[in-house]
Amino acid sequence: MRLSQFHLATVKEVPADAEIASHRLMLRTGMIRKLAAGLYTWSPLGLRVLRKVEAVVREEMDRAGAVELLMPTIQPQELWEESGRWAKFGPQLLKVKDRKEQEFCYAPTAEEVITDFARNELKSYKQLPVNFYQIQTKFRDEIRPRFGVMRAREFLMKDSYSFHLSQESLQQTYDAMYQAYQRIFTRLGLKFRAVQADTGAIGGNASHEFQVLADSGEDAIVFSDASDYAANVEKAEALAPATARPAPSAELKRVDTPTQKTIDEVAAFLKVTPQQCVKTILVRGSDGLVALCVRGDHEVNEVKAGKLEGMPGESVLATEEEILALTGTRPGFIGPVGLPAEIPVIVDRDAAVLADFVCGGNQDGSHYTGANWDRDARVTRVEDIRKVVAGDLSPDGKGTLHMARGIEVGHVFQLGKKYAEALKATVLDENGKAQVMMMGCYGIGVSRIVAAAIEQRHDDAGILWPEPMAPWRVAVCVINPKNAPEIAEAAESLYQQLAARGIDTVLDDRGLRPGAMFADMELIGIPHRVVVSERGLAAGTLEYRARHEAEARAVTLDELFSLLG
Ligand code: ATP
Ligand code: MG
Repeated sequence: MRLSQFHLATVKEVPADAEIASHRLMLRTGMIRKLAAGLYTWSPLGLRVLRKVEAVVREEMDRAGAVELLMPTIQPQELWEESGRWAKFGPQLLKVKDRKEQEFCYAPTAEEVITDFARNELKSYKQLPVNFYQIQTKFRDEIRPRFGVMRAREFLMKDSYSFHLSQESLQQTYDAMYQAYQRIFTRLGLKFRAVQADTGAIGGNASHEFQVLADSGEDAIVFSDASDYAANVEKAEALAPATARPAPSAELKRVDTPTQKTIDEVAAFLKVTPQQCVKTILVRGSDGLVALCVRGDHEVNEVKAGKLEGMPGESVLATEEEILALTGTRPGFIGPVGLPAEIPVIVDRDAAVLADFVCGGNQDGSHYTGANWDRDARVTRVEDIRKVVAGDLSPDGKGTLHMARGIEVGHVFQLGKKYAEALKATVLDENGKAQVMMMGCYGIGVSRIVAAAIEQRHDDAGILWPEPMAPWRVAVCVINPKNAPEIAEAAESLYQQLAARGIDTVLDDRGLRPGAMFADMELIGIPHRVVVSERGLAAGTLEYRARHEAEARAVTLDELFSLLG
C-alpha cells in the first residue's frame, strides 16, 4: 500500500471522554470514528487490523473442523418467543418493526436462528456432530457503552454452535474449541488466561472465558500460583477453613453503636478486627427474605448465593422497607441473633467457624458482642457464599489465589438441550428414534480483541502491535523524495521487493518531514520501520528500527530480508 493513496488521518487531540489507552489510541490513530454512542466506523486503517484478527479466527475455526455460514442480523420475534427469550433478554434487545408491523430484533447472538436452521437441516445422527460458525455483526443495547469498541453497541462477533447426540461428543467439540481458542489468542500475541466461568442466565454446565490480562479490564479473575487453576471471581470456590469452631467463651452482650453501621466503623468502635465480626445481608429468596452471613472482612458473592437452593437464581438485595417491615430495624444493624424464625440464615463457611463474634443487634443503634452460633443464633445452612480474596487457598488444593483484571475476549459454553428442547430440534438416532440434540456455543469478540490488544501493548508513542495484527508489518519511509528522484526510486524498488516476498508493507510516500512521518508510524504501531535516505543510499545501507527497540541501526538489504523472515 502506498500511503499517498490511502486515508491515514492521525490526530493529536483526543476527546476527553476516552478513558482508557486503547480508546484514546484508536481515536488518535484514526482507526475508528464515533457515529453515535457505541456505534463506530472502522476507518481503512482500523479495518485492516480487524480483518487480520478475523483471518486468524477463521483459519483456526476451519482448522478445528467448524464450518462457516452467514445468518441474518435481523431475526423474527416468533423465533425468540419459542425460546422464551423475547421478554427475558430485556432492553438489551433492539427491536424493529417492518411495514406490516411485524416485530424483529437485531441479533445480539444467534442461538435461536442456528437452532431453527439445525432443526430444518439436520435429520439424522449421521450428520452429527457438526459445528457451524459465522463472523457477523451483533447489536446489544448496552446500558453503558464505553471504552470505544471494547463495549460497543454494535460489534463484530465470531459465534459458533455445535450439535450432538451425546454429552461425550459435546465435550469433544468443546475441548476442540477450547484448544482452538488457545491457538487463536496465542497466535495473536496476547497474554491471556482461560478461566472457569459462571454459566449465567444461559444455563448449562461447563463454561470457560478467555480473558486478556489488563489492569483496565472490567472482569475480576483469580488464578493459582502453583497450578493452572483460574476462574472468574463470580465462579471461584472458597474452600472451607481447616479449623474447627472454638467453644463459646463470652457472654452475649448488647452494646450501643449509635452511629456505627459499617463493619469497619463497628470494629474500630468496639476495638475488634473485622475478622471477628459477622456481616449480615438480607436478600430475596424464592419465598421470602433470606439472611446471608459472611465474616466482616469478606463480601457476599451474589452469583454463588443466587444459585443456592431456595434462591431464585440471582440474589437481589431486600429493600429498606422490606427489612424494616420484617425486622423492625434498618440495614446496618441486622444480625443473625433473634431474627424472625421465618428467615433462613445461610452462613458462609468461614463465618461458621467464628465464636464470640460481633454482629448486628436487630435494633437501630445496637450490636451484639460475644455472639455464638447455635447458642445465640440459628444456622439454617452452612454454604460457600463469599467472594474469594487474594491469598485464599486455590480450590484445587495447589497454591494460593492471586487476583488480576481481565478483558473477556472469548467464551465457550455447553448449552445442553436448552435451545434444542425449546425449538424441538431433533434428529433420528441409530434406532430411528427422534432425539433432542445437545448444543455447545462458542463466541469471540473479534472487534473487542483489537482494543484488548492495544490495552496490553502500547507505550507513550503509540501502539505496539503483535505482528499478526499490525495494519502492515513493515513501513518503508522515504526522506525527501522530491529533492532526490533516486531516493524515491530506491524506496519504490525496496517496496516492490518486500511485496514480492509476501511481506505486508506500506510505503510512506507522503513526503512528510521525517519527525512527523516517524511519529505516525510509531503511533499506528508498525512493527518494523525502514528508512531510505540519501545518506544511507550513499553508504549502501538502510536504517532499520523495530518498534519495541529504542535505537535505529544500519542494515544491508540482505540483513533486512533475513530479519523479516
Ligand atoms: P460481557 O460480559 O463483556 O458483557 P458477554 O458475556 O455478554 O460479554 P457473550 O455473550 O459471551 O458476551 O459474547 C461473546 C463475546 O462477544 C464476548 O466474549 C465478548 O468478547 C464479545 N462482546 C460481548 N459484548 C460486547 C460488546 N458490547 N462490545 C464488544 N464486544 C462484546
Ligand atoms: Mg460471556
